[in-house]
Amino acid sequence: MYKTEAIGKASKEAPFEKIIIGREGTSDDDVDIDIKYCGYCHTDIHLVNNDWGVTDFPCVGGHELAGVAVKVGTNVKDIKVGDHVGVGYFVDSCFNCDYCKDNDEINCIKGMTGTSCGQIQYGRIKTDNGKYTYGGWSKKMTVNRRFISIIPKSYPLENAGPVFCGGITMFTPMFNYGASKGGLKVGIAGLGGLGQMGVLLAKAMGNHVTVISSSPRKIALAKELGADDYVAQSDEEAMKAATMTLDLIIDTIPASHDINPPLNLIKKKGTYVVVGVAPEPFKVSAFKLIVDQVKITGSATGGMKITQECINFVAKNNILQKIEMINTFDEMNHATEQLNKGNDSGVRYVIDMEKIFS
Ligand code: NAP
Ligand code: ZN
Ligand code: ZN
Repeated sequence: MYKTEAIGKASKEAPFEKIIIGREGTSDDDVDIDIKYCGYCHTDIHLVNNDWGVTDFPCVGGHELAGVAVKVGTNVKDIKVGDHVGVGYFVDSCFNCDYCKDNDEINCIKGMTGTSCGQIQYGRIKTDNGKYTYGGWSKKMTVNRRFISIIPKSYPLENAGPVFCGGITMFTPMFNYGASKGGLKVGIAGLGGLGQMGVLLAKAMGNHVTVISSSPRKIALAKELGADDYVAQSDEEAMKAATMTLDLIIDTIPASHDINPPLNLIKKKGTYVVVGVAPEPFKVSAFKLIVDQVKITGSATGGMKITQECINFVAKNNILQKIEMINTFDEMNHATEQLNKGNDSGVRYVIDMEKIFS
């Protein structure tokens, strides 16, 4: 078992601090990764606050890893030492169910093992607590080849981490509901880390994009990202004018909210995809479903096959979301405050592992 530095929390109330954790490889199928950068997704907020009741402490967040392969198991033929590699939301699954066989491991019937705060059950991940995973806010990690994506060297490594959660979470529903072919009117509700990637991806695929934000404060950001339209939910007139104009909406809002105002922007028979983890159930009238036949569904990151397609697409189109680096624990606390209150600047925060531990 080797030791490595990590950003941990001893309890829900405790501050972030440097802790030392133990990890171990388990087979010749593993790759050791020096983690250079790791994103700060809003899901990390839910996890380190134990919002979902699944977190063991001490916990280490982080599931948007980008780094360099430093040791490669003898069975791994397609990754070499020095390659740029990434890891997203999960690091293990059963390998045998229909979804795993289809490289759609996020939907593993027996359950995938989350990269951070995931329950260890298939034995391909080992940590010093024997029970749960430590995430990528850390200097080093060992992961089975299957759960690693190859990052094209042309793509900036500091931008790559967020592609493996924020990016793929927006890419998958666009692929599943027609936007990847272009020509749709796509709405993105909530302009934070996921929302930004949503705008950039949907535009690169050739869609007309409307940002649906809670207020007018992010108009400039939306324009800069290339959005065609902007509707503030606080502006009743604008919401009315946009009624039934969109084919697809992806809702990234992490807080409790009334789904009906944005849902009314969907055309008859359009699709509303929930990806933000709102804590309270949504309420929708039977009349809305019957008369407009809108489809309401959800989406979870993406399996390893589509994740590799996503990083290739992002690199090919040079899609660069606005990121802000975290280099110190003070900046980590500042980012946490910002994410808790609605991510005013709409950036994706990314931790520089070299700097934060120096
Ligand atoms: P983020 O950067 O914090 O952005 C969330 C955005 O939601 C904010 O920028 C804000 O945009 C909007 N918002 C509206 N009301 C809010 C409120 N009361 N508090 C906070 N934000 C509010 O978060 P993120 O990293 O994009 O993640 C968004 C959600 O997606 C989280 O719940 C996360 O757990 C979830 N997630 C799900 C998956 C999946 O697989 N389904 C994957 C990754 C993340 P406006 O100012 O434009 O309103
Ligand atoms: Zn499976
Ligand atoms: Zn995430």
